[in-house]
Amino acid sequence: MNTPATSVADYASRAVGPIILLGAPGAGKGTQAKQIVERYGVPQISTGDLLRENVKLGTELGKKAKAVMDSGKLVSDDLVCDMVAERLSRPDCARGCILDGFPRTVGQAEWLDGFLAARGSKLPLRVIKITVDYNKLLKRLTGRRTCPVCGTIYNMYTNPPKVDEICDREGAKLIFRKDDSEEAIGTRLKAYDNDTLPLSDYYRQRGILTEISGDSEPEQVTNELFRALDKVSI
Ligand SMILES: [Zn+2]
Repeated sequence: MNTPATSVADYASRAVGPIILLGAPGAGKGTQAKQIVERYGVPQISTGDLLRENVKLGTELGKKAKAVMDSGKLVSDDLVCDMVAERLSRPDCARGCILDGFPRTVGQAEWLDGFLAARGSKLPLRVIKITVDYNKLLKRLTGRRTCPVCGTIYNMYTNPPKVDEICDREGAKLIFRKDDSEEAIGTRLKAYDNDTLPLSDYYRQRGILTEISGDSEPEQVTNELFRALDKVSI
């Protein structure tokens, strides 16, 4: 039997294992990932950051990636997987981590399964999908406003500035970007579905996919997420 954690400190020393968060743009993945990082004290690993870090530090993998990108090509799956493998082997991932933007394909998901199995990791992989009603997503995403000066992103529905259309920081007039139009967002959401459905199917078949509704307030979603994670932490 697991001993239930009773204090915040307990959660921060628990092993939660690798967590994959899936969710369409606007589903609140970023917000929820931050909550997981805070509660469990595990790092958030983004493949974009990892790529930039490797290139900046001039690691062997970074040099390879840079050569590929300089030639105008996309970094291969193999190279991305190698970077993830190196990152997951660092000590701060011992109790778990959140994978952000990885895996992106079923091929990468299979690679990850193999990698974790080969390491003999006892920590179960969890996959949490935050689902949000399509019309709600559309409303959230078209409500986005960006500050042209400091880059802060607001949302007229979920995270409005104190004064309408004005940045809280320096008072600049917020802008509405073309790629936040209903049409552009519809296209993005469709692309997201096409890309990730095979991935959620893959994890559903393996019985490790937990679906959480992201329709309610962020705090409620966080609570549900924590419940799901606490249930199987070891
Ligand atoms: Zn600003």
